Amino acid sequence: MQFETYPYAIFEGKIVPLEKAQISIMTNAFHYGVGIYGGIKVFDTPSGPGIFRLDDHIERMAKSVKILGFRYEFDAARIKEDILNLARKNEIKPQTYIRPIIYRSDTRISPAIEGDYSLAVYMLDMPPYYNYENGIRVNISSWQRNSSKAIPPRTKATGGYINSALAIDEAKKLGFDSAIMLDQEGNVSEGAVMNLFLADNGKLITPSSDSDILEGITRKTIIEIAKAAKIPVEERKVSKDELYSAGEVFFCGTATDITWCSQIDDQTLSKTRGPITVRIEEKFAELPIKRPELFTGVK
Ligand code: PMP
Repeated sequence: MQFETYPYAIFEGKIVPLEKAQISIMTNAFHYGVGIYGGIKVFDTPSGPGIFRLDDHIERMAKSVKILGFRYEFDAARIKEDILNLARKNEIKPQTYIRPIIYRSDTRISPAIEGDYSLAVYMLDMPPYYNYENGIRVNISSWQRNSSKAIPPRTKATGGYINSALAIDEAKKLGFDSAIMLDQEGNVSEGAVMNLFLADNGKLITPSSDSDILEGITRKTIIEIAKAAKIPVEERKVSKDELYSAGEVFFCGTATDITWCSQIDDQTLSKTRGPITVRIEEKFAELPIKRPELFTGVK
């Protein structure tokens, strides 16, 4: 998908025009996927554009760097300041998508973790890109989510996303919008690039963090919203057959918000979004008013 970009980026420690932020073809991360990234969204709040859960996103990046052992001196306060400075320089608006990446930046040729690392950040204008009216149609992928014993999905490692790319490619070739991935045990993990919830009998169910998921920040927010609204939430292993019998299924993620699912494989789930999905969507939309502390102002 191609979106409008903002004119400035962070590259090698400085704010530069986006077209000057260029890496060598010899860059180690380009060959071996040794990097981790984030995806952060800007909302319209009563006090102007607000970056949603910026500290949580930075903390997830810090954890990823630690898990993978990157030789990168992570300074959360500095990264936050850099992102805010870039946001001001770009004069960003609501619906901006912020993409930070920490990658192995040296040009030595070997798939090693030891090496030099750098932070880069760029920004896009990202309007909603799924058809929310009709829901999305997904298949259950024949590709399994990569195991945390191989490439931990919780780290948002760049190289791990070949797994999502394969699932999306298969889904598109079969005429679906996206895919659901099962973990190595055959339980439901998540969407190719989104977390997933089922709603049934007045409660929400979502695959637990030991189901090889990325622990999404939207997922965490939905769990908080549901608990506040007294909707019971179960975080547990979810078997594939539960998907077909669930009253409602929806996906969630920074880029895709909350997206209801109308069809899985050849089974129609429903023709309209279900009542729990609608309730969660409404509560999610109220966050800029109800929970202003979740947004970092850019001014
Ligand atoms: N799972 C995967 C594999 C993802 O790439 C994403 C998008 N970052 C998500 C879930 C949703 O996570 P978040 O709500 O933090 O954007």
